[in-house]
Amino acid sequence: VFLGAPGAGKGTQAQIFAQDKKVAHISTGAMLRDAVAQGTELGQKVKPIIESGGLVPDDLMVALIEDRIKHDDCKCGYILDGFPRTVPQAEALDKMLSAHGEKLTHIVLFEVSEEAVLARLAGRRGSESRADDNAEVQMERIRVYREKTAPLIDYYEKQGALIKVSGDAAIEEVQSRLVKAVSGVKSCCCCH
Ligand code: AMP
Repeated sequence: VFLGAPGAGKGTQAQIFAQDKKVAHISTGAMLRDAVAQGTELGQKVKPIIESGGLVPDDLMVALIEDRIKHDDCKCGYILDGFPRTVPQAEALDKMLSAHGEKLTHIVLFEVSEEAVLARLAGRRGSESRADDNAEVQMERIRVYREKTAPLIDYYEKQGALIKVSGDAAIEEVQSRLVKAVSGVKSCCCCH
């Protein structure tokens, strides 16, 4: 699991790391944006939520992940980027995994100063053509992160499983810090 505030760089790091280890990169934000773009039932439901910076209901997200991790590309592992985002989602994930005799192997928190987050988000405005990348929605996303997602830090710290990586640096530097911090992660065994 990759955790971090909006703009902490977890999506970029997840993409590089997943490619390197040949494991699946599951970005719930990207899955939802796809659903919106395709105009599916789910997409229509979540569009106004994403555009306001709020969170999609936990039951929908849990069902989405439960289905996604059954896909073949997850057999040798996967990175969850953007999920869980609330304590109930984390609890549901723990339950889901333990029902299959599995558990999370690494939970990584990308720590970035508030100034860096704001500067990165300002830089991202318009560049990724995301409907939720305007200043007002970004501020709401940060507020929601603090209120709903930041409690996960405590949740995973209590499980003794949280790995902290300082994200206040260039992409390559953060990647090398990440690789050092999670040195036990194996590459895909069978590969697709
Ligand atoms: P992201 O690309 O991860 O920043 O996600 C973009 C938006 O998708 C978020 O602001 C939420 O509206 C929604 N979203 C993504 N993942 C979740 C999740 N695990 N729970 C609830 N909403 C989510």
